[in-house]
Amino acid sequence: MKPLVTAMLVAGVLAGAQAADKIAVDVALTQATLIDVASGTRSEGQTVLLKGDTIVAVVKDAELKRYAPRQTITLPGKYLMPGLWDTHVHFGGGEALIEENKQLLPLYLAHGITTVRDCAGDLAATVLAWRQQIADGKLAGPTIFTSGPKLEGRKPMWKGTIEVGSPGEVGKALDTLQAMNVDFVKITENTITPDTYLEALRQARARGMRTSGHLPGQVPLARAFEAGLGTVEHQSYLLRATTPREAELVQQVVAGKLTGREVMRLSLESYDEATARRAFRHMAAQGTAVVPTLWGSRITAYLDQESHHGDDFLKYIGTGLRATYAWRVQRAAQDGPEAVALRHALFEKSAQLLPLLAQEGVSIIAGTDAGFLNSFNYPGQALHDEIALFVRYGLTPQQALQSAVVNGPRFLSKLDRYGSIQEGKAADLLVLNADPLADIGATRKIRMVVSRGEVHDRARLDRMLEDTRRKVAGDQ
Ligand SMILES: [Zn+2]
Repeated sequence: MKPLVTAMLVAGVLAGAQAADKIAVDVALTQATLIDVASGTRSEGQTVLLKGDTIVAVVKDAELKRYAPRQTITLPGKYLMPGLWDTHVHFGGGEALIEENKQLLPLYLAHGITTVRDCAGDLAATVLAWRQQIADGKLAGPTIFTSGPKLEGRKPMWKGTIEVGSPGEVGKALDTLQAMNVDFVKITENTITPDTYLEALRQARARGMRTSGHLPGQVPLARAFEAGLGTVEHQSYLLRATTPREAELVQQVVAGKLTGREVMRLSLESYDEATARRAFRHMAAQGTAVVPTLWGSRITAYLDQESHHGDDFLKYIGTGLRATYAWRVQRAAQDGPEAVALRHALFEKSAQLLPLLAQEGVSIIAGTDAGFLNSFNYPGQALHDEIALFVRYGLTPQQALQSAVVNGPRFLSKLDRYGSIQEGKAADLLVLNADPLADIGATRKIRMVVSRGEVHDRARLDRMLEDTRRKVAGDQ
């Protein structure tokens, strides 16, 4: 063999060896500014490498040459953050609406929501099946965590519940939920007795199951926190924590002399900031978080001023789901001027508790209550409205982002997989055209969504929305 040929062969072998040394990955996202939500910091010149549904490395841009990505996406001037979580959504409205509920899944993805927490409806088996299909990559949609059917007392107004009539029945109900492999336990307060409610919290905690709930009027808030309540769903329940009269008001509810609404009104009248702060400190110490769902409360509170019937987003909502909106609209229309004024006052005061809760160390988790029944509370879009309200009522953009990125996974003990852009974490990412730490409105300026490693650029997101619109319009 001639020396030149030998040299060429050696060079070829070396080049081959170098290529083989390169680490094969699926996607490289390079030249973006990374947002670390937990610390509120930005880092430029970073490349994020994805393989399958996982972030396999985060390196300096110059290190990209060590990798062999199948797809390289260059993102100068863009911001990269973890996908958003909406931790309070619903699917429901009866079996006839299964398809319409299914059409909500791409709406979440198209708005950068890569995870939802389903807080119970009347389609538990369907939602559990979707959870699996999405996890298996057979259905496009956000990762789902679900409560399965919620716990209630006998004959509640809500469908799709497990009826628990006494503390003695709690164990069996939790066995049923564990057999379904639910992600947490949802408890509402329509007909459940105070003793059963508290027993459910205690037994769930003993089994290592997390709980989220409404608050029965006959239970002092502190007792629920101490029994292990994981999250208070809907911030308005916390108004009772702000009055020195709580014990007395609870007694009157037990005696049947006051309704929940009246307790809220009296709580407003006797509001005391020091009492509120003390209660929130206790709440934080017990490890109870809050999912404020302010956006949904605001919509209902201001139905007298804002009709929503011309909302552009309605084109994405099926007619059956739209029909479920009528319930709250009709109820609100029956309110006289005093009741309307009270609706506004209750919303404003609830919202104003946000900075106090944050200052006293309570974990605030973003959730919207979007889904059936909750009028004009639009899946996907509502989460952006919710965190914008958080900032309007006194949180920083960083705190608002934490509520939608970090605090949800923390509640479910999933921070090993979610909450930041780091090696080993889920390839659920959002590429934004503007800096969300500077302006929370930037979360709406979505350039790209990565869900389970799958890249959806703007054109693909727009197609998703258009597909949904056409299905709703019956064009297909
Ligand atoms: Zn809800």
